[in-house]
Amino acid sequence: MKIPYNNIFYTEKEIEYVKDALEKQQINADGKYTKLVSSLLEDNFGIEKILMTTSGTHALEMASMLIEIKPNDEVIMPSFTFPSTANAVMIHGAKPVFADIKSDTLNIDPADIEAKITKKTKAIIPVHYGGIGCQMDIIMDIAKSHDLYVIEDAAQGVNAKYKEKFLGAWGHIGCYSFHGTKNYISGEGGAVAINISDSELIKKAEIIRQKGTNRQEFIRGEAKRYSWVDIGSSYGPSDILMAILYAQIEQMDIIKAKRRVINDFYSENLSKYIDAGKIKSMTYIPEKCDSNYHLYYLIFHSEKDRDKMIEKLKEKGISAVIHFVPLHSSSMGRKLGYTPSDLPITENASRCLVRLPMYTNMTEDEMYYIIETIDSIFKEF
Ligand SMILES: *Cc1c(COP(=O)(O)O)cnc(C)c1O
Repeated sequence: MKIPYNNIFYTEKEIEYVKDALEKQQINADGKYTKLVSSLLEDNFGIEKILMTTSGTHALEMASMLIEIKPNDEVIMPSFTFPSTANAVMIHGAKPVFADIKSDTLNIDPADIEAKITKKTKAIIPVHYGGIGCQMDIIMDIAKSHDLYVIEDAAQGVNAKYKEKFLGAWGHIGCYSFHGTKNYISGEGGAVAINISDSELIKKAEIIRQKGTNRQEFIRGEAKRYSWVDIGSSYGPSDILMAILYAQIEQMDIIKAKRRVINDFYSENLSKYIDAGKIKSMTYIPEKCDSNYHLYYLIFHSEKDRDKMIEKLKEKGISAVIHFVPLHSSSMGRKLGYTPSDLPITENASRCLVRLPMYTNMTEDEMYYIIETIDSIFKEF
């Protein structure tokens, strides 16, 4: 049996909606499906304003522009993340300051955020690893007492909650991704969630997204014409992509339930290996978190064991992968002056973690095959 790490799941509606968008000649940004999908996200997640973007990376860039990140500002974020989190502030000349993570959830450690705040700190970007929420109540308190912005990198955290609030709805701004590897997809796509009730700020976000013009006001009939009013870029996705995404968002709870079955199956069948001393830990969902089951991981006691597991799974046709070369120990991170030992928990997680296959349409046969294969491999450990 061949089992990929990831696999794209379609509902039955994508083709119908894409056909509709094409027939209506709505292929640019801000057509019918862009409106439908942004309203659906606003209503479901209780978010003031959602602006769809061309990617999660662009959502993070827009957020940085919106809070006016400037050269020499410092922005605290985990190193255990995708490069986009850091690029978003570096393209504005600011410095990413990497904080360590907690060993249970692999999410940013609030105590290390506090330890890294200086006079130059402008913002915090928590990243919800694997769709499991960071401790947002604590992080928002820290931000409030130091007058900092919080931008959530909720690229992996769409349709998941921390306490009673959805991820992306906690910070001043939240950023989502709908990349083909995420839970709900348009191939490339993202969104900015604005959680500050400030019509001026929302207007500014619309201008940044619309090439520095007030086109959105014009569309709403609030302006007679539109023109260049400020610095901006082009972050609006094609309505064809939003047609695909609308089909996915309509069924987001069904997709989440399917992924939960896989998550729970892994946990039920693999937790015995923690007690047996073969692995150190596995995906952990705290009580306060409602996950979207974006990924499933095991953490081994050593890099050697982890690599051996990946190798043996590969021999049996199962693709399991590592996650994140931490930003601080990447070649760019070294250029910024970091050394791997600066963030020991991050470094250890990255060396010893393996992600098991996780995709919405995984069959029961595939699930059993993965577990039976892992069982047989562990007999050799
Ligand atoms: C996927 C991802 C991004 C980037 O999203 P794209 O839509 O691929 O640009 C940013 N941050 C994290 C944590 C991600 O997982």
